Amino acid sequence: MRISDYPFTEAAASLVRSAGYSLESLLGKTSFKTARGRAAQRVAQAISGTISESAANTEAEQLTELLSYPLARIMVSCLDDSILLRRYALAEAKLAYRRMQEEKEGLEAIANDLGLHPQGPGPYMIHFSEYIRAAHRMHSSKWKLTNRDLQQGYLTITEEELKRIMEEAAREKILKGLPLPVDEKTCASLQEYLGPLKEQLDIIRARDRVDLGRVEEGAFPPCIKKMLNDVAKGTNLAHSARFALVSFLLQINMTAEEVVSLFNTSPDFDEERTRYQVEHIAGASGTSYKPPACATMATYGNCPGEDELCRKIRHPLSYYERRMRLFKPLLPEKSQEPGT
Ligand code: SF4
Repeated sequence: MRISDYPFTEAAASLVRSAGYSLESLLGKTSFKTARGRAAQRVAQAISGTISESAANTEAEQLTELLSYPLARIMVSCLDDSILLRRYALAEAKLAYRRMQEEKEGLEAIANDLGLHPQGPGPYMIHFSEYIRAAHRMHSSKWKLTNRDLQQGYLTITEEELKRIMEEAAREKILKGLPLPVDEKTCASLQEYLGPLKEQLDIIRARDRVDLGRVEEGAFPPCIKKMLNDVAKGTNLAHSARFALVSFLLQINMTAEEVVSLFNTSPDFDEERTRYQVEHIAGASGTSYKPPACATMATYGNCPGEDELCRKIRHPLSYYERRMRLFKPLLPEKSQEPGT
């Protein structure tokens, strides 16, 4: 196992500590310019979605890779944007997951560092408490404890599943502690990197802001507003909420592409899978689905509480239609003919 491939581990942190570099030298010395450049690249690529591999064959290259991780954490902390922090943690975890595919002997050591103690060699036995801690945010049915073979507190997972829950555990570990308590002086010394990153972040934010076109977001019912808010924060929606949101947006004429792009802040975002699900709800299989009525929404815990209009309607689409009438320009009333 190459420690620089997993810079979020305790082994990596103690290696950085034992090297004894001061923060000032990491931020300012010319000899660490490559590490600062790689750190900025980590953040820039995380904003776009995927952190690429970097050459780490020589000792110097591995050191650069290792040091670029704490520097990248400082940079995202200076940028202080909650969505960026989540995107960054996800992109780092996905990079680690790709590296795990090549991992031979080191897998268990990385798992242990993440608080997982699988007993192998694969398929692995893992204690249910560790499994739940790592997999609780993974919503597809195969991860549900009730769908696993549980014996004397342990369940069996394949090597691939182990890597997937390690990715999730890594994401949580990376996110923990962010943003770091950085001071202004530290951020100012990184301005040459932070300026372009901020610009990139603004562009991505504008692009991700869904152009609803004819769609009027202000007319959305409270349930849909809440779900959109959760998605923007990177919170995974329960299946029933995801279905309600997607079917609602499709019914009011958003394209499948626009709906897919909404979900790219979700921790578990899998573009291909999301596209398949959205297109299925849009009617790719021959049936186009309508969002559930308010009563069903309430049953599944997807109705956050009614406002005044909610009390007069029974379906989120009726709410939207009624509100939309208020957004239409008022037409002049027909003048009444005398005697009518
Ligand atoms: S009453 Fe209906 S429209 Fe209103 S928030 Fe609840 S589910 Fe949505």
